[in-house]
Amino acid sequence: ARTVGAELTEDDLALDRSLRPKRLGDYLGQAKIKESLAILIEAAQARGDVVDHILFSGPPGLGKTTLATVVANELGANIKTTSGPAIERTGDLAAILTNLEEGDVLFIDEIHRLNRMVEEVLYPALEDFALDIVVGKGPAARSIRLDLPHFTLVGATTRTGLLTGPLRDRFGIVFRLQYYTPEELASIVRRSASILGVSIAEDGALEIARRSRGTPRLANRLLKRVRDWAQVRGDGDIDEDVAAQALSFFEVDSLGLDNMDNRILELLAVQFGGRPVGLTTLASALSEDTDTLEDVYEPYLMQQGLMVRTPKGRQATERAYEHLGIRQVDSQ
Ligand code: ATP
Repeated sequence: ARTVGAELTEDDLALDRSLRPKRLGDYLGQAKIKESLAILIEAAQARGDVVDHILFSGPPGLGKTTLATVVANELGANIKTTSGPAIERTGDLAAILTNLEEGDVLFIDEIHRLNRMVEEVLYPALEDFALDIVVGKGPAARSIRLDLPHFTLVGATTRTGLLTGPLRDRFGIVFRLQYYTPEELASIVRRSASILGVSIAEDGALEIARRSRGTPRLANRLLKRVRDWAQVRGDGDIDEDVAAQALSFFEVDSLGLDNMDNRILELLAVQFGGRPVGLTTLASALSEDTDTLEDVYEPYLMQQGLMVRTPKGRQATERAYEHLGIRQVDSQ
């Protein structure tokens, strides 16, 4: 089954919600971002002002939505949540903006998917906290400006490069979330286990963490699967052995790669014979769009040293051949 980039089910979303940290202190990892946020929040509060607009970027499941809610909680503010594709018309955005209250946090997920007309309405709202509306038609049409309450926009996107320049420039701060280390993920797994009432040993948490593709959402999902396996096949306790057996049973490999990750590596190493492959060629061989390939799959494969981008195209590395258990052929 695909674990990354696939549509989230109701179950996934419910699990996300129940395990979502509420305060900065419960948010594990991303130390630098947390520190910067704490400073921003404290400084703005001391000035009695709203925090600058914030953009979070990074692959799915690393905790962008979570950070947006944490920011709102730390500010003691309300959060209104929406997404780029959900705001179809300028009127939709105007309704959202005029319903905001002073100090609110407005969270727009997948903000790179806002359409241009909607974006144009957002610019004065971000810069001057104002909404320009056109009343009347033809020569009698005129624009009136409405004042909006001061608010903080928090945007989330998989890659900052997907945003138009003018929109990107209107964010005071851009934070790029990084994949989590196995140790950080192990702490997240232990925290989630204690919320779910699951008994887990230190080495069991680390085994799940190592196979979670650097991603908290995946770590939480795998913890749930391992818990079920341990309940039925074992005595319910999770140690390294139990975690490893359960995850092998569910076909999560030792690096946590899913089917799509492995297909990418196989294509590069076997079908294309180790030669450099262009992004569009690779995407069409996978029936996947180039953005998803670039934003969701490639970053982790590159971070793990399984794939490189060369000027001529994508190539599997020696580590990929080792991982696939095949011998590297001479591609020259
Ligand atoms: P997407 O963009 O795909 O919605 P996201 O980056 O917004 O992903 P979240 O929904 O914020 O991801 O996080 C997924 C889940 O991972 C959350 O439910 C939360 O339980 C967990 N999580 C994320 N980051 C952390 C963290 N730093 N500490 C503990 N748990 C975390």
